[in-house]
Amino acid sequence: MIVKDAVCPFCGCLCDDIEVEVEGNRVVAVTNACELGMTKFMGEKRMKNPILRDGNRWKDITYDEAIRYAADMLLSAERPLLYGWSGTHGEAQCVGVHMAELIHGVIDNTSSVCHGPSILAIQEVGHPGCTLGVVKNRADLVIYWGSNPIDAHPRHLSRYTRYAEGFFLENAFRDRKVIVVDVRKTETANIADEFIQIKPGGDYAVLSALRAIVQGKVDTIPRTVAGVTRAQLVRVANLCKSAKFGAVYFGLGLTMTQGKYKNIRNAIELISELNRHTKFTISAMRGHYNVYGSNEVNTWMTGYPFGIDFSRGIAFYNPGETTAVDILARKECDAALIVGSDPAAHFPRRCLEHLADIPVVQLDPYPNATTAFCNVQIPVAVTGIDAEGTAYRMDGVPIRTRRVLSTDYLSDEEVLSRMYALMQEAS
Ligand code: SF4
Repeated sequence: MIVKDAVCPFCGCLCDDIEVEVEGNRVVAVTNACELGMTKFMGEKRMKNPILRDGNRWKDITYDEAIRYAADMLLSAERPLLYGWSGTHGEAQCVGVHMAELIHGVIDNTSSVCHGPSILAIQEVGHPGCTLGVVKNRADLVIYWGSNPIDAHPRHLSRYTRYAEGFFLENAFRDRKVIVVDVRKTETANIADEFIQIKPGGDYAVLSALRAIVQGKVDTIPRTVAGVTRAQLVRVANLCKSAKFGAVYFGLGLTMTQGKYKNIRNAIELISELNRHTKFTISAMRGHYNVYGSNEVNTWMTGYPFGIDFSRGIAFYNPGETTAVDILARKECDAALIVGSDPAAHFPRRCLEHLADIPVVQLDPYPNATTAFCNVQIPVAVTGIDAEGTAYRMDGVPIRTRRVLSTDYLSDEEVLSRMYALMQEAS
């Protein structure tokens, strides 16, 4: 059987043109996906059933036992943390918010350690963005700033920018210019028309210089700015001004470097400046396939995109205080539920030391670095493979993922709903 138009649940591109060949309830071939997506569809080494830590060993338990364990753990905690959520579908994220509210816990998603600062900047100055389809069909200039899509979002280039045909571009490959701004020459820089290499931490200064040049204040610019010559900055500013439609895509190389959200604010203000001359947009390269959705769902339900603390009985949000890394580093939480992420692979050591001291339950189909910190791990169906649900693409377009296999695994939403029902009964 061949399933057409399947949706790849790996990165924020959420490619929806995947063909999956299934034989005997196993994926045997995948067409159109990049290597990252193909690996996810062909995924092996999934856990078979829930496991409970028993001294130095793991013991198999049933879904009912695992769900009961998690519900009891969260109910008896004084300051539970519910973290992750970017690697699951929106319906499961909704249940997570209800659970956090019921138990007066903190719910945070992975954007607090990725594009959280981008969201703070957008809250201050707005988001002049557009869909990927608009970029594909109209953009004659694309800038990747601090992102390397060849490695992280491979089909972004082939579906929407470098290699994509556009409705309003006669010969997109020839007529569309690609500029890469980064601290090192990445694979994406190798296929760009222009590469701007800046010194680490120099993004803010380079953005400010470009803003000044676009405003016509070239004389105020020193001979080099963060390692970039004035001549190159003037050339790039002129390329931007003369484009019919420009699009900037920025990654963690801009958001998580010195300056953080101020970099993004400055970049958005550069786009506003360029919009006095032509049409320009700016968007984040979102990593997990539904990290955008986790911000959306949290915002509809609580008013805030991440780091939401219900300990006062109402939603409270203060990034840097109510975000997972800060709560763990202060050794504040006394139980953690991890869904659809792998904090042990990314969080600072201090946070992991606390994670090792408290009870942890994880919902994830695969063993990962966080497994070593778990008391219980519950394997779940993979959204887009053996579960379906709604996810938000990096440009904010909701897409319904499809189920291509039928398995006995429960979905995140089913596990969480059962957990939530037990918690409602007990409270
Ligand atoms: Fe999947 Fe992203 Fe590759 Fe598309 S670009 S196939 S969504 S990993």
